[in-house]
Amino acid sequence: MDDCLIVGGGVIGLSLAYELAGQGCAVHVLERGLPGREASWAGAGILPPGSITAPVTPDEKLARLCHDLHPQWAARLREETGIDNGYWRCGGIYLARTVAAAQGIRQQARYWKERGITVIETSPAGLAECEPALAGVERGVTAALFLPDEAQLRNPRHMKALLAACASRGVRVSGGVTVDDFETARDRVVAVRATSGRFAAGTICVTGGAWSRGLLARLGVAIAVKPIRGQIALLNTGAPVLRRVINEGRCYLVPRADGRVLVGSTEEDVGFDKQTTAEAIAGLLSFATELVPALAAAQLETCWAGLRPGSADGRPYLGRVPGYDNMFVAAGHFRSGLQLSPGTAVLMRQAILGQATDVDLSTFGVDRG
Ligand SMILES: Cc1cc2nc3c(=O)[nH]c(=O)nc-3n(C[C@H](O)[C@H](O)[C@H](O)COP(=O)(O)OP(=O)(O)OC[C@H]3O[C@@H](n4cnc5c(N)ncnc54)[C@H](O)[C@@H]3O)c2cc1C
Repeated sequence: MDDCLIVGGGVIGLSLAYELAGQGCAVHVLERGLPGREASWAGAGILPPGSITAPVTPDEKLARLCHDLHPQWAARLREETGIDNGYWRCGGIYLARTVAAAQGIRQQARYWKERGITVIETSPAGLAECEPALAGVERGVTAALFLPDEAQLRNPRHMKALLAACASRGVRVSGGVTVDDFETARDRVVAVRATSGRFAAGTICVTGGAWSRGLLARLGVAIAVKPIRGQIALLNTGAPVLRRVINEGRCYLVPRADGRVLVGSTEEDVGFDKQTTAEAIAGLLSFATELVPALAAAQLETCWAGLRPGSADGRPYLGRVPGYDNMFVAAGHFRSGLQLSPGTAVLMRQAILGQATDVDLSTFGVDRG
């Protein structure tokens, strides 16, 4: 029997499997499709900086933990697997082009500064120094900030690296296995029932992303997680034209080192529908080409949509499932699951193994209402 069964092989499930296996646990990940091919593949990989001065709230502590862990995990994954996950401290620009949006990002700048995060307020005219591709855009800009500590990773590569690292630590990952139900005995979940049979384990953790609510409903447990679609267009300019992540409201441009640029994203409450739409992609392309006219000549390589696991209060659910001693959940990371994945894995490993957690998990509890 495995020590731990993990239901869902996205970035959260695989990071947790990697972390548990590092402590000698026998771990089996059950994944309905191909591992790492849902939201964790579809995301953009932006890693905003965490608080530098002592973080206060549990959310800040989790973000700070991840800020520290990402470069360490990138180096360790490269060492263990030879795969470079593309971690890159490229810096991020935050732009406003209306008076209201300028107020919003100045308020955000104060919040970041109070937490010791370096924020460089850039005059519209100075923008081109920070990001030459933005030359010319300054006429419409009402405020601009530069965060040198914003980073990114190439999430499809990160997923490959995690899978390889899990394999080298002895984690079994079974794709094409859909978990349908749980078998309980008093206050324990003794096994899961899946399309390909019954699997028993000492501990079970649901990391089913946007699908986690339906899974936990089988146990009569409610979590407010639902799918929020995000669409992305991928451009290729052959050679890099941008070097920073550029954020404006919910939209962004993420330059990869090879000349590709991700243009994202939408936030759509349309259920489990992963289609791309002409209107959304047209909107993203006009955002991109208006900001960086050089992108008008880029090749439109492909478009896709993914389902973020949105939670009602924007926080993930992390910890034990009430009513069951050996049942856990880590789901609902919404727009930040890639950013928050290594810290989530460490804290969940601590919770599952009965170790003291580095961050108090009650804020993220399933019973928080
Ligand atoms: C367009 C877009 C842009 C994003 N950009 C960023 C970003 O820049 N930075 C960032 O930090 N985050 C970003 N995110 C969010 C991030 O991708 C998610 O928060 C994160 O991937 C969630 O990981 P997960 O493992 O919980 O979910 P998923 O990756 O969705 O994995 C859940 C897995 O569970 C499996 N599963 C579900 N039900 C079952 C079942 N019954 N049996 C077996 N397996 C099951 C699914 O098949 C899936 O593989 C973005 C997301 C999208 C869609």
